[in-house]
Amino acid sequence: HAIDKQHRVCQYLPNQQADSKARLSLEARLRRAIDSEQLFLYFQPQFTLADRRLVGAEVLVRWRDQDGNMISPGEFIPLAEQTGLIARLDHWVFERAIEMLAGWQSHLPKDFRLSVNFSAVSVSRGLCELWVMELTEKWKVDPHYICLEITESSIMSSPEQAKQSIERLRSCGFDIAIDDFGTGYSSMAYLKHLPVTHIKIDQAFTAGLEHGKADQQIVRAIVTIGKSFGHRILIEGVEGAGQAKLAEELGCQYVQGYHFAKPMGGADFIEQYLKPAAN
Ligand code: C2E
Ligand code: CA
Ligand code: CA
Ligand code: CA
Repeated sequence: HAIDKQHRVCQYLPNQQADSKARLSLEARLRRAIDSEQLFLYFQPQFTLADRRLVGAEVLVRWRDQDGNMISPGEFIPLAEQTGLIARLDHWVFERAIEMLAGWQSHLPKDFRLSVNFSAVSVSRGLCELWVMELTEKWKVDPHYICLEITESSIMSSPEQAKQSIERLRSCGFDIAIDDFGTGYSSMAYLKHLPVTHIKIDQAFTAGLEHGKADQQIVRAIVTIGKSFGHRILIEGVEGAGQAKLAEELGCQYVQGYHFAKPMGGADFIEQYLKPAAN
């Protein structure tokens, strides 16, 4: 029963004020989860819009606790960010992802990118660069296969630090995507200072594409300015053929979304997407 209560509480974190005891126990469980077998990776394929060719996948962490309940990253990532566990989580996810990539390297299309999410903490304190490079060397993975996703809002929380981190990571050969673009209140002019390679248009705009002109105009503006700086444009959260068609007409080059493929386990990803390329 105690466990049931905790689960009910964690369903509502972090949106509602949960009592600090429950928060602490969820934190303790997450701490344990990172060290045990409870976390695992899902992969969501990314494609070109024009010819639906596989160009990469985004790594998305999953948590199945000891009672078999799935806890969504939308719940535990914010908790990890508040408690400082996020640095360990980012490190854990990155190493597992790189380990997978090391095994896939000989089966990958040449321009394949595995995208890994990086939280604000890892980027803004400039801490990640050392271990990112260390792990990439340890697993003998070419950095050109890796894209680091950094949200627009985490960049804007300390723009100068983020810019320096991004520059250093770029000089080592990693691609960098600005995630959730359009929601972080940056001036679009700020883009010219950031040597990123990709822009990921937030799914909030995708959801509005078929409901009038406003979101279409926003997407068109992001595409125009992004391309003018030489960035590649991926649109997220595409759930239907109508949205895909509009996104392509508006100039988006890459796509990710349930309409094309849902996030899946590593074995399914290999089976469905990497096997044909292996021959
Ligand atoms: P995100 O980085 O924006 O990831 C995209 C989210 O949209 C994922 O949710 C994905 O499953 C979901 N999604 C993909 N296609 C569609 C679609 O067509 N429609 C809709 N409605 N949703 C779609 P998920 O896996 O629940 O992750 C939520 C967020 O948690 C992520 O948002 C990211 O901010 C964070 N996150 C997930 N994995 C990691 C991780 O390994 N590290 C860090 N730092 N954050 C992560
Ligand atoms: Ca992301
Ligand atoms: Ca996103
Ligand atoms: Ca998001």
